[in-house]
Amino acid sequence: MASANAAPAVEGWFTSGEAPALLGTRCARCRTVFFPREAAFCRNPACDSDQLDEVELSRRGRVWSYTDARYQPPPPYVPRADPYEPFALAAVELEAEGIVVLGQVADGHGVADLAVGAPVELVVEPLYTDRAGVVRTVWRWKPVAAAGEGRA
Ligand SMILES: [Zn+2]
Repeated sequence: MASANAAPAVEGWFTSGEAPALLGTRCARCRTVFFPREAAFCRNPACDSDQLDEVELSRRGRVWSYTDARYQPPPPYVPRADPYEPFALAAVELEAEGIVVLGQVADGHGVADLAVGAPVELVVEPLYTDRAGVVRTVWRWKPVAAAGEGRA
């Protein structure tokens, strides 16, 4: 990764490339899925397993809730622009796992493009450029056209 000019802002939370995906862990015994990853032991109180396997999570989900970040978050948030530009945040229920994952909304999209239940897709986009000139990336939720859906 050291030679690349782009790297995740948080190592090991998601993949990059054509079809990026969040990386979580799944309990080998009770199948509970965790994101962010749980490495030590299963958090299901009815389960005492400590075998957690890395899994790529669904790239698609539906908006569970969303908001507009009108005020600049405190550090470690790195502002993208000065003056601060508000961005949208979406809590998305993953298609297969049913867990809710918070993330920023993709560049060029705002709360006007969101609705509870609307389909979104995971994308990886630049978050900021660090002191070494490396573009740090993060996952974001991108609204997808309803016309592209295959089910009613
Ligand atoms: Zn478990």
